[in-house]
Amino acid sequence: MPENMNPFEPPAGGLSLYLHVPFCERKCPYCAFESKVPSEGEKELWLQTVERELLWWESRIGRPLLLTCYIGGGTPTVLSGPEWIRLAEMLERHFTFDAGAEVTVEANPNSLRAEHLLFWRDWRTTRVSIGAQSFDDAELIQLGRLHSAARAWEAISASLASGFSVNADFMFGLPGQTFRNWARTLSQAAGSGIAHISLYQLTIEPGTAWESMPEEELSDGYLPYRWAQWYLPSKGFGQYEIANFAKRGHESRHNINYWKEGDCLGIGPGASGQIRGWRYKNISGLGGYSDSLKSGKSAIASGERLTGSRRASEAAVLALRMKQGIEREAFARKYGPDEESRVIKILEAFPGDLYSVGTDRICLTPKGMRVANRIWSELV
Ligand code: SF4
Repeated sequence: MPENMNPFEPPAGGLSLYLHVPFCERKCPYCAFESKVPSEGEKELWLQTVERELLWWESRIGRPLLLTCYIGGGTPTVLSGPEWIRLAEMLERHFTFDAGAEVTVEANPNSLRAEHLLFWRDWRTTRVSIGAQSFDDAELIQLGRLHSAARAWEAISASLASGFSVNADFMFGLPGQTFRNWARTLSQAAGSGIAHISLYQLTIEPGTAWESMPEEELSDGYLPYRWAQWYLPSKGFGQYEIANFAKRGHESRHNINYWKEGDCLGIGPGASGQIRGWRYKNISGLGGYSDSLKSGKSAIASGERLTGSRRASEAAVLALRMKQGIEREAFARKYGPDEESRVIKILEAFPGDLYSVGTDRICLTPKGMRVANRIWSELV
């Protein structure tokens, strides 16, 4: 960490919180997220350790104001009703929630119960994000998911009936996935009453059960993604970010804060956070995470403060993920006009229909979003 730099000074104004629940009912074969099936006593250990980590942060940054809170994983619905009550009480002890705070919880259709929805409604939850992945039973079996399409529907319907703003995640690029299946899943999603849709392309990740699957077995993602970019806006879901579509007013404020490099406290094993430009990653694995905090140390495994072109490039990539793109004046003020010119120069090496440079903003076009990885590799 550079001298004269104290990342633990309380951030001005509010911040976001990401809390990682590292448990799942079963490990999906493609998943590289930090999660495992909890063994006896591990949920209790996690709860106790999260409290320790919150105390550690409180002694450094006080009791911050939360503008958004995102409880994800893993599978937060692996926690029982009483465990959720403990968790929420813990958060209430260590943070002040803004009156209009956006509070999102992730739910797996297989483990979502009425007790979750009842408690979330009584607490301060505003959004429920459901890992539906597909409305096709054969695809769900192929993905190793424990739920059926019917169960995904039930989870969505029950969440909507409880009054939440609902997101659902869907995956494309699966081996053998037909365009017809993808279009059917999207059509059902768009007509289900949810207000937000997130799309993920299946990728082969090291360390997963599918790590040795040849990339060629995946289906091409270009056409399904292009279809989504045309179809979802025609049903009222505007594309506000590369992977995210929402009805007006239902965009995820938590994620927008992340793409705008806002302050976000990451809590839990393997969680990442960023405070005043200093970003950090927690120790992975419940054992090491817990041992470190128990011995009075922090949960942080590594931290760095990006500077110069590297920081500007990362900020540009994050901003270009969003439809609104880079706000030129703010970007030039923060990183310098030379960095702004460098970004424009890099984009100008690509065909002109992939991006637009206006007086106020620099954006990727929908076509540019389809080939964003090629653009990122030049920018960073
Ligand atoms: S439920 Fe989600 S987090 Fe858990 S293993 Fe499957 S993909 Fe990973």
